[in-house]
Amino acid sequence: MSGTLYIVATPIGNLEDLSPRARRTLADVALIAAEDTRHTGRLLSHIGVQTALKSLHEHNEAAVVGSILAILENGDSVALVSDAGTPLLSDPGYRLVVEAHARGIDVSPVPGPSALTAALSVAGLPTDRFCFEGFLPAKSAARMNALRSLANETRTMVFYESVHRIDALLADLESVFGPDRMAVIARELTKLHEQIVPGTLVDLGARLARDEIPRKGEFVVVLHGGEAAAEPAIADALALELAAVLPVKQAAAIVAKVTGARRNDVYQKLLAAKK
Ligand code: SAM
Repeated sequence: MSGTLYIVATPIGNLEDLSPRARRTLADVALIAAEDTRHTGRLLSHIGVQTALKSLHEHNEAAVVGSILAILENGDSVALVSDAGTPLLSDPGYRLVVEAHARGIDVSPVPGPSALTAALSVAGLPTDRFCFEGFLPAKSAARMNALRSLANETRTMVFYESVHRIDALLADLESVFGPDRMAVIARELTKLHEQIVPGTLVDLGARLARDEIPRKGEFVVVLHGGEAAAEPAIADALALELAAVLPVKQAAAIVAKVTGARRNDVYQKLLAAKK
């Protein structure tokens, strides 16, 4: 019988957020795979746990997965933690979980803090549907491309950002989604200087510039989704009217731009209608 791979969430700032089950799991397993063993070592000494640690981070994951799987296949259980919050959410562990499943090893969550759910829970923006975008690319052109691909997104969007790029992210969000789009900056969640600031993108950018939102610590930006695209029936009718006076390709391009529909979908529909 294999052991179990536990995916254990740890605090994102406030140590009291470590659950009793997380503590017990960390104490009971044979090994803890940790993103930064010194960082997790401090957490373990705070909670009086002495389990052995092994480093598993972005740059060595491929190399160490085999030895962790061997321990699991030998019947011992292992916990995976990251520096803060829930592993695999913009944190290492994906390859380990995939490989564990492939070998029929049980993978079990010990859920708890994440900046994603913490920010969503206080943002006051729709949470019935949302998408997690994590960190956007650091380079400006790639970041703008990623944001343009979200231009028609109607779900609430969640972005992680570092202090170094928070101003640039706000500026880019404003240029793609417009100054009046509502958003929330969640800074230093669960920590001493926690700040939850709702506002329009232009307002939030100005508050950052005035240092009312200090450029210190960790940030999540939650962005309101856009208005839903026009009703499909209206979009179809519009497409047919346009295709009567314009080439089909051009009609499809206009309808896609106005309604947010995919250009190729409109084009294919128009071709079918013409037949
Ligand atoms: N796995 C973590 C989780 O579940 O939230 C996220 C790890 S990711 C490497 C770190 C990013 O998460 C930070 O740059 C920030 O965007 C966000 N974050 C983590 N802790 C935070 C906090 N206390 N307040 C605000 N954002 C936080």
